[in-house]
Amino acid sequence: MPAPKVPLPPLPRSILDPASVAVVVFLVALLGIHTRPPGLLASIWFANAVALALVVRWPRHLRASSVFALFVGCVAADLVSGTEPYAAAVLNTANAVGVVAGALTIRWRRPEPLLLTGSTAFARLSIGIVVASAVSATVATCLSGLLVDVTPAVSPTAWFASEFVSYLLLTTILLSVRAGGPWRPPTPRYFDSVPWTVAVPVLVAVTLMIAGMIADGPLLVALPLPALLWCATRIPLSGTALLTACWAGWNLLIAGRVGVLGTGEATQSPVATLSVALVALGPLLVAAVTLDRMAVQNKLHEALEYDSLTGTLSRAAFLRRSQRRLNTLVDGSQPVALLMLDLDDFKTINDTMGHAAGDIALVRSAGCILSALPHGAVAGRIGGEEFAVLLPMADHEDATAVADTIRRDHERLHLLSTRTATVSIGLAWAPAAPASVSPLLDTADRALYDAKRGGRNTVVAVTLA
Ligand code: GH3
Ligand code: MG
Ligand code: MG
Repeated sequence: MPAPKVPLPPLPRSILDPASVAVVVFLVALLGIHTRPPGLLASIWFANAVALALVVRWPRHLRASSVFALFVGCVAADLVSGTEPYAAAVLNTANAVGVVAGALTIRWRRPEPLLLTGSTAFARLSIGIVVASAVSATVATCLSGLLVDVTPAVSPTAWFASEFVSYLLLTTILLSVRAGGPWRPPTPRYFDSVPWTVAVPVLVAVTLMIAGMIADGPLLVALPLPALLWCATRIPLSGTALLTACWAGWNLLIAGRVGVLGTGEATQSPVATLSVALVALGPLLVAAVTLDRMAVQNKLHEALEYDSLTGTLSRAAFLRRSQRRLNTLVDGSQPVALLMLDLDDFKTINDTMGHAAGDIALVRSAGCILSALPHGAVAGRIGGEEFAVLLPMADHEDATAVADTIRRDHERLHLLSTRTATVSIGLAWAPAAPASVSPLLDTADRALYDAKRGGRNTVVAVTLA
């Protein structure tokens, strides 16, 4: 009989974390080494940018073991690529120190993980990457001065420029992508759902990038810039960061070498690299400020749409959404019901238990109403202790059953040791939805008045002719 399989115990985090850092950094550093011109520093150095994103997005990696793993990953990549051991040790000490300095700056007085959710986070990242680039350029220059014949030769400005542009382009993308569920390839229908306000600026930006490449000269840099700024106001920050990185990467590959930036240098130029980085800062900054604006817009929208106490729709939103829903029912002559609900003797709750207790009673009442509603119902708080509910396509029995459930559930609601208010309900039902919500509201209001006169804690239903 085969021996039962004993599952291997999972590796502890203290080993898994540094090991994953070392592997990721090794692979990314190899990419940087193989794309750098022979004998020169890379104009984009991906490894530090990935490492910085890793430690500020998942701060548990900012530990001695993970930083050592970062160093080991980079040194290993250099050694397998033929860099001398001395040079590999010097260059990668500078890399690791720069990443740590940048991460500590970004996390200064803000220990939580950094995600680019607005301009404050972007400003923090920008300061962090300037510090990381400056510290690492200084360490590299000082250490290489101590040793002879370090290849590639270290120039402080070239080192700073390459670090800065790499951080700006790649770390921004990695910190702006939100973690979602497992990735699935987009279906053809996915593209139908992309709104034109997003698709058009992206298409224009891509077209202008291609046109800039064909035109060459200074247009290579300038032509797509307005479209990138347009994208920054329309698409998520991660999209703008990706487009800007494509544009800047192409500029660095082409413009930096052939001197179209007017630096007059035909080889890799730190001035060209820095110029590209500074121009790229524009769209990224606009995209970050757009996130701030959207957050304010969302808050305003929420304040207008929802009642802040009970979380049901506000009066205006209830009327608007009910009317919109009615419009979809009118043509098919579908039935509809509207409930108007008013808590009974609610004033006595405020008078005897205080206003705060009255608020809690209102929240419980709203919860009780919402939990009794079928899918598709529209509910709002339309006055102090008055709620309204639209029940699209409800036949008469269904509507009265919902109203009765709400009324009976209110009888069982308690606040401290006291029962909260019961509810009176006016129900207007129409076999064919009217064109406007007004007759439903008027009829339900009159039925509610009858329910109050009839002794409260009751449902009065009226059918519209
Ligand atoms: P009825 O059975 O006739 O409806 O009597 P009632 O006491 O419920 O009606 P009335 O209109 O006399 O009083 C309604 C009370 O609801 C008065 C007001 O103080 C209270 N109210 C309105 N909005 C709020 C609120 O947001 N919080 C609290 N705690 N009370 C509110
Ligand atoms: Mg009232
Ligand atoms: Mg009342």
